[in-house]
Amino acid sequence: MSIPFIDLKTQYQALKPQIQERINRVLEHGQYIMGPEVRELEERLADYVGVKHCIAVSSGTDSLLIALMALGIGRGDEVITTPFTFIATGEMIALLGAIPVFVDIDPRTYNIDPEKIAAAITSKTRAIMPVSLYGQCADMDAINAVADKHGLPVIEDGAQSFGATYKGRKSCGLSTIGSTSFFPSKPLGGYGDGGALFTDEDELAKLMREIRVHGQDRRYHHPRIGVNGRLDTLQAAIILVKLDRFDWEVEQRKIIGQRYTQLLSEKKGIITPYIAPENTSVYAQYTIQINNRDQVIQRLKGASIPTAVHYPVPLHQQPVFESFDQKNTSFSVVEKIAQRVVSLPMHPNLPETSQRMLAELL
Ligand SMILES: *Cc1c(COP(=O)(O)O)cnc(C)c1O
Repeated sequence: MSIPFIDLKTQYQALKPQIQERINRVLEHGQYIMGPEVRELEERLADYVGVKHCIAVSSGTDSLLIALMALGIGRGDEVITTPFTFIATGEMIALLGAIPVFVDIDPRTYNIDPEKIAAAITSKTRAIMPVSLYGQCADMDAINAVADKHGLPVIEDGAQSFGATYKGRKSCGLSTIGSTSFFPSKPLGGYGDGGALFTDEDELAKLMREIRVHGQDRRYHHPRIGVNGRLDTLQAAIILVKLDRFDWEVEQRKIIGQRYTQLLSEKKGIITPYIAPENTSVYAQYTIQINNRDQVIQRLKGASIPTAVHYPVPLHQQPVFESFDQKNTSFSVVEKIAQRVVSLPMHPNLPETSQRMLAELL
């Protein structure tokens, strides 16, 4: 028996008639760009997160780019972020000519360590961009407090945490701007690329809407530089259907994540995920720390169980960021953890029998 790392087929089978109905409606009305489904999705998502504005965009990467552009981040500016994330987080900062300033992570949650942020702030710092890794929010109140003291905006990269809560409030609604991704394997995935931005600030929302469409404030009138960052109507239609099942999926993810932890917590040499008491995780990844990682990965592979490493090389060690001076900061926590983490198969339809079988092999 093989276990898929994520299982989009079972999900599709469960939603097939509704998805086909929604897709057909788009094919009939033919408004493929910014059709009514895009607006409908934005309203549903804003409501879900509990913020005033949602702007649907073309990917989680473009979403970060548009957020940074709306905040006026540019050449020579510094943006504080975590080195333990997907490349896009640091990449979009650098794409704008700004400098990603990495701050080491908390050894338990793997998110940026708020206590180390203040030391990284300089006169050039323009924003703080934490990532809510593996489906658990960063310590947003602590981060917002440092940011407020220095008058800085905070962008939460919630590409992995959509649906998670922090002190009872939803991820992406916890700071100046929240950003997420609808890449198929994310907790709320589409059938292609997609993403969304969230904010309570009217002016920022207006800016982000304009930047999404070539910096256009009315047809063929362009007060600023923007991008083509729109979400396809077809993707919006698909995500709308998936949203109907999302609460159930989030609940399943919690149950399955907690079951893994139960099955693995007695095992020697395994550190299961630590979920802070103020958080609920959507387990975008179920990631453990383990000794002899390569051996374990091979053993699981032999039993047709796929694994993944999120992420083997922290961003400050990526060749592309080598030229960025990181001010002699210590990255001892992330460097150690990046060598020890491995993610196990995780999706809302993962059967208990598969989890038990997998646990036997660890
Ligand atoms: C997936 C991901 C992104 C990028 O999202 P895309 O939709 O693939 O562009 C950005 N940040 C993090 C933390 C991610 O996991």
